[in-house]
Amino acid sequence: MTAGHGVFILVVVLALSFFSYNAQRLVRYMRTVGQPEDRTDHPVTRLRNLILIGLAQAKILRDPLAGALHASVFWGFVVLTIGTAEIILGGLFPGFSYAAILPAPIFSLYTLSQELFALLVLAAVVALLYRRIVIKPKRLQGDRVHSGDAILILSMIGALMVSLLSLGAFEFALHPGNATVFQPISLALSHGLTGLSVGVLEAGRATSWWFHALLILVFLNYLPYSKHLHVLTSLPNTYLANTSGPGVKGAMSYMDLEAEGAEQFGANDVTQLGWKNLLDSYSCTECGRCTAVCPANITGKLLSPRKIMINTRQRLMELAPLATGDFGEFEHPTLSAGEGADAGGTTAMGVLQNTLLDNYITEEEVWACTSCRACVQECPVSIDQLDIINELRRNLVLMESRFPPEIQPVFESLERNGSPWAFNPGDRAKWADGMDIPTMAEMIERGERPEVLFWVGCMGSFDDRAKKIAVAFARVLQAANVRFAILGQEEKCNGDPARRMGNEYLYQMLARDNIETLDKYGVETIVTNCPHCFHQIGNEYPQLGGNYEVIHHSTYIEKLLEEDRLPLNGEGKQLTVAYHDSCYLGRYNDVYDAPREALKRALPLMTLVEPPRSRSKGLCCGAGGGRMWMEEDVGKRINIERTEELLATGADVLAVACPFCMTMIGDGVNAKASSVPVYDISEVVAQQLAR
Ligand code: SF4
Ligand code: SF4
Repeated sequence: MTAGHGVFILVVVLALSFFSYNAQRLVRYMRTVGQPEDRTDHPVTRLRNLILIGLAQAKILRDPLAGALHASVFWGFVVLTIGTAEIILGGLFPGFSYAAILPAPIFSLYTLSQELFALLVLAAVVALLYRRIVIKPKRLQGDRVHSGDAILILSMIGALMVSLLSLGAFEFALHPGNATVFQPISLALSHGLTGLSVGVLEAGRATSWWFHALLILVFLNYLPYSKHLHVLTSLPNTYLANTSGPGVKGAMSYMDLEAEGAEQFGANDVTQLGWKNLLDSYSCTECGRCTAVCPANITGKLLSPRKIMINTRQRLMELAPLATGDFGEFEHPTLSAGEGADAGGTTAMGVLQNTLLDNYITEEEVWACTSCRACVQECPVSIDQLDIINELRRNLVLMESRFPPEIQPVFESLERNGSPWAFNPGDRAKWADGMDIPTMAEMIERGERPEVLFWVGCMGSFDDRAKKIAVAFARVLQAANVRFAILGQEEKCNGDPARRMGNEYLYQMLARDNIETLDKYGVETIVTNCPHCFHQIGNEYPQLGGNYEVIHHSTYIEKLLEEDRLPLNGEGKQLTVAYHDSCYLGRYNDVYDAPREALKRALPLMTLVEPPRSRSKGLCCGAGGGRMWMEEDVGKRINIERTEELLATGADVLAVACPFCMTMIGDGVNAKASSVPVYDISEVVAQQLAR
């Protein structure tokens, strides 16, 4: 064994030991501090997410330029890791080479892949550095992101590629007989080294090898201290993401209110978050894709989903050493401040007195969220920022009764009247007066059963503008001879506003009442014009034992049109229409085509124009997450931002498929003093019915 060989073995053992210590430390932090969660369900969907989002980089490629650059680095890393293993093994076992174990053609392919990917990664790194240092895109600024860290990591990756290629070049310059066209870059570079003495070439080869091998080990050990920890965590994070199950996309986590010994509801600190939330915080790349699409942030509010993740990680890193006993005698973070003071003195006391909520994330940020899921949609490593916001809201409402004063009457009305407004529940079906629409009770009494239950929702029942949508949709159903009923006074709010505003007690009360009513009538299929009712009943009622087929009216209407069940007047209208995607229909449920198809079928001469942000990139109207009932006095109003974008398309008509969007966009159009009409999909179709 040479001295160099011995030194290398020692260095590798030390580096791997240090890395292993840090990896275990981070896992311990996550598991000790975070609450238990089961992430073993839906293995097939998880695997699909891993392949599509993790390996194929489907989400990162949503940003074509930066996405392609990052994907190049990722794919390059995957391929080059095989070569890295050969270099490290060659250092540990002199003479080791894949050439000895691989058939010649495969080995040639392997060497070629190493060279080409090294060049690709190098080019991508140079472009990314240029972008970060010279172009400085807005989304890479703010939230105290670790820009220096990013530059250091990119520089390390670049240096790894340069040393890898120079290693080959020196090797070929020393041994021209080994030169092969399967290492074309090394071969080309080696020509530049001709004329150098053997001593210089040997020194160059040794320097390249040692530099490369040591830098790999330094890089590996730097990751646990860097925002680039995602290099290690992004794939497991994607597999474990909580948006993976079919039919549960965007569903809030189930909260067992009756759980024995449950004393905490929601979270005010990292100790009350699930371990997966903490893994999310490790995995954040600080890329800012989430914040760049956040309607609250775009319009000047304090909320930044990236900051939610950075702050969660910071709080975890502040508390976890105490919680895991790294810096004291602590066993678990559910400690009193007194225990903290005993073990760690005043600093530990301060750490224990801090909480994620208030010290790291303010109430103002938490309440600014519209629950639009744009952040979750964009995150390339499948982080769920909204999950943390929801848990903080639950704690604020259920544990501390801290919430914007304007939502107090909403909670009271939901409890008393079964709707967010103080309307008489007895007036719920008044919108249908004179339309000859039976209630479920009436139909069952007649010994009949409906094809579908029309779930009207609180907006359709009480809001003057939305009542017209309910009427239009009922007319469409009647025109298609669909046998349908409504619940009338027996319908209550689906509970979405209460749940999104953190009031899980109220939500479960409303949801259980509705489930009882639906089950009493044996309801199987529900059609609704409200995406919030659609999502809640379809995706979240199953948590409470309510299982129904729920169809959004846009899908239902499209089907009726496709089956030629609707008598249309055939009047051609040369219109341009801009459709606004509802978050709860689109991002929550992937319903993008049905509303557009329904419009096209009803108005064959129409031209559909898309605003710059549409479909899964659509901008929220600002009403979700209970924001409909909250003041919006910071920054620009979200509905104005969205309405301006829709009006800028020059469309003759704006179309929506959600009564909440109708209110927000309608208000936006009024505020802009525009005469462009806003219609629901059902209204557009109803206008085209043969009289
Ligand atoms: S859900 Fe929407 S509003 Fe809330 S943080 Fe994410 S992007 Fe922002
Ligand atoms: S949460 Fe996701 S999208 Fe947002 S900064 Fe972190 S990695 Fe990027």
